[in-house]
Amino acid sequence: MIRVRFAPSPTGYLHVGGARTALFNWLYARRTGGVFVLRIEDTDLERSSDEMVGGILAGLRWLGLDWDEGPEIGGALGPYFQSQRLDRHRAMAARLVAEDHAYYCYCTTDTLKTKREAAEQAGAAWRYDRTCCALTPDDIAARERAGTPRVVRFRVPEGITRFDDLVHGPIEFDGANIEDFVLLRSDNQPTYQLSVVSDDVEMKITHVVRGDDHISNTPKQILLYRAAGADVPKFAHVPLILGPDKKRLSKRHGATSVTEYEKQGYLPEAMFNFLALLGWSPGNDDEIFSREALVGAFALEGISGGNAIFNPEKLDWFNQQHIMRLAPDELAMRVKPWLQTAGLWHDDYLGDRRAWFVEVLELLRPRAKRLGDFASQGALFFGDAIEYDPAAVDKHLRGFGMAQHFEALDAAFAALDTFDPASTEAAVRGLAERAGVKAGVLIHAVRVALTGKTVSPGLFDVLSLLGRARVRARLAAAQRLLLTSSS
Ligand code: GLU
Repeated sequence: MIRVRFAPSPTGYLHVGGARTALFNWLYARRTGGVFVLRIEDTDLERSSDEMVGGILAGLRWLGLDWDEGPEIGGALGPYFQSQRLDRHRAMAARLVAEDHAYYCYCTTDTLKTKREAAEQAGAAWRYDRTCCALTPDDIAARERAGTPRVVRFRVPEGITRFDDLVHGPIEFDGANIEDFVLLRSDNQPTYQLSVVSDDVEMKITHVVRGDDHISNTPKQILLYRAAGADVPKFAHVPLILGPDKKRLSKRHGATSVTEYEKQGYLPEAMFNFLALLGWSPGNDDEIFSREALVGAFALEGISGGNAIFNPEKLDWFNQQHIMRLAPDELAMRVKPWLQTAGLWHDDYLGDRRAWFVEVLELLRPRAKRLGDFASQGALFFGDAIEYDPAAVDKHLRGFGMAQHFEALDAAFAALDTFDPASTEAAVRGLAERAGVKAGVLIHAVRVALTGKTVSPGLFDVLSLLGRARVRARLAAAQRLLLTSSS
């Protein structure tokens, strides 16, 4: 049974890199019928907070990354907060000491500092010199009786160790280059290396999928697994995410928090698709994937060893593609909160005016990059407060005798049997011909009168969907604007 875990430290929000690591773990678990464990590594109590935990859980949920064991749902191998497992970590340290894989070290920070500085001055690399390895049982007993502060250090064995990283291939390391690292600090707090291995062993993790920044920890952790007599899991280290300038992704590049993307109107399925392809490839040129299709196609072997570039334009493209693929009713439900926030929502959009509402959304859809665009670009349909762009008014409304043309147009619209794209287009073009103005001049002017702007979806679709009464009211308002503010 494959068991993977996502193990965030709640010292910040869920950032894009963490979300992608979670996603790869989740995909692998779902692909293989395995178990996805969520473990919160909150041992740094000063920097961790419940708020951050809440944010991480919310971000994972938004992306649809449901966990099989973890916070709020529990599981057989909990607790799933690392801070509640410290005694288990200490017990592992005690076992390692008892079996001579680890030892007490009483060297003071000052002593170590002096030695390190001396070594550096002599141009030598400093590693702990194992002074305390030479202590006899009596020495140790005496120090323990005296309550001398001590740490627990792992005794790094000699020799070369290899592992096959599922992303990077064979990696080897020489024990001679690894210091006898600390497992328990002098205040009895476990270190990251100890906690993570203890928890991964007890939670029966079979595959560790995590960021590249942990590669240098892996040798130490493998040695710990071996010393503890535990099976060593497989490792897959996922490359970093870089900004378009090839520097490590940071706030300089824009939003890095998943929640921020939700707030900006990205669809979770678009973010999911985008993140999955950030460093993973299906082996062909396919780009648009549903969640299910990704589960079907995913393999750890498809993760590239090279760093991935976060391209915000590509994310916009994915968002647009997924917006285009939403079923009309689904789109309506997703747009609703955005219209509510903008004060443009009416319940009958999902009731009596549903057909009209869906038609408007279809008209807006091809231009929408984010959900908020349905509110900003749809405001001309969902509200009547038109904000005129002064430059557009100057350019297209003034100076063509437009007030008179509008009066004639209003009469033509009033006389139409049906008010649809074809009939309104015929009316506008007929009037242009009769009045001797170019149709384009009239079309631009009507667009500004109805929308306040120079850009909109196709004008005759706009006319038809606004309906005769609202169109005539807006033409009248534009006429008033021209008369009252004419210069
Ligand atoms: N808590 C660690 C981190 O957030 C992850 C540890 C691991 O995956 O081994 O970087």
